[in-house]
Amino acid sequence: MNMTTYQTLLYYCYSPINNAEQFAQDHLEFCKSLGLVGRIIVAEEGLNGTVSGTTEACQQYMDTVHADRRFAKIDFKIDEVPEPSFIKMHCRYKPEIVHSGLRDPKIIDPNKQTGKHLEPTEFMEMKDQEDVIILDVRSNYEHNVGHFKNALTLDIENFREFPEKLKELEKYKDKKILTYCTGGIKCEKASALLLKEGFEDVYQLHGGIIKYGKEAGGKDFDGECYVFDNRVSVPVNSVNPSIVSTCRNCGTTTAKMINCANPECNEHFTQCDECGQKLDGCCSRACMEHPRKRIYDGTGYYVKIPQAVNLEKISKRKHKNFPPKSVETT
Ligand SMILES: [Zn+2]
Ligand SMILES: [Zn+2]
Repeated sequence: MNMTTYQTLLYYCYSPINNAEQFAQDHLEFCKSLGLVGRIIVAEEGLNGTVSGTTEACQQYMDTVHADRRFAKIDFKIDEVPEPSFIKMHCRYKPEIVHSGLRDPKIIDPNKQTGKHLEPTEFMEMKDQEDVIILDVRSNYEHNVGHFKNALTLDIENFREFPEKLKELEKYKDKKILTYCTGGIKCEKASALLLKEGFEDVYQLHGGIIKYGKEAGGKDFDGECYVFDNRVSVPVNSVNPSIVSTCRNCGTTTAKMINCANPECNEHFTQCDECGQKLDGCCSRACMEHPRKRIYDGTGYYVKIPQAVNLEKISKRKHKNFPPKSVETT
């Protein structure tokens, strides 16, 4: 009997890193030495990662990272998983750990000013008050898989569209704004930006939906939480769960998200198992005919995701159930 147990860790930290490019290289070697797989982004402003491996390797990783004074405050979200959630280990340098286009720390710096952090139970108590707006700062395809009841969304395909969409919130300036995202990282910037734009009462869900699921039972979160690894989405609500997303092909409710098996399409969408069988993991009959169609193994997850984006197709995509094909990282 195989007794190996695995974990997946989700975390971020806004904390200045000097020589971040070198740090990324060294950190990659360190992760590989532990046999971890995952995806980490390193920037001068901090770290953003999801890593997966044996329970021992994950513990060693957390201990080592915590021992570094810059990262002592990291709050790791730990999931027990049946197998590692990635195939490879990537650790890359980027200008920002969450791409907002606001690279200048003088514009917003979550280390200096950000929305008040609410712990999951505090968020749960506050979210149904009358003068409160719950704001989902994630992308539309994430929102469509699952979201808080009554949450507002700005219908963005990527977080970098968030700053320009803030105009739509002008009418809520006198309300309390509660922001949330997957693990809390986007909220640090989103809430900082709201404050800069003159919103006065801004709060953020500390640790995001994932921590809320663990500590508040995920109450009133409809659907599943989209995640950026091969699990695609995870259930978080054990109190009053429901499914909100529907199969693109037949309309039945399903939380399953796949990429189209045609590598040139690679559309990211929800599809039920039955349609997955019928269409062999494709979004359409046309894609089934493609000569380079990949083998559908029932997961709809492919290691190499082509990055070519068909802009014409995206601009035509108005309906909410048509998420973008290029997937950002948390
Ligand atoms: Zn279907
Ligand atoms: Zn397709």
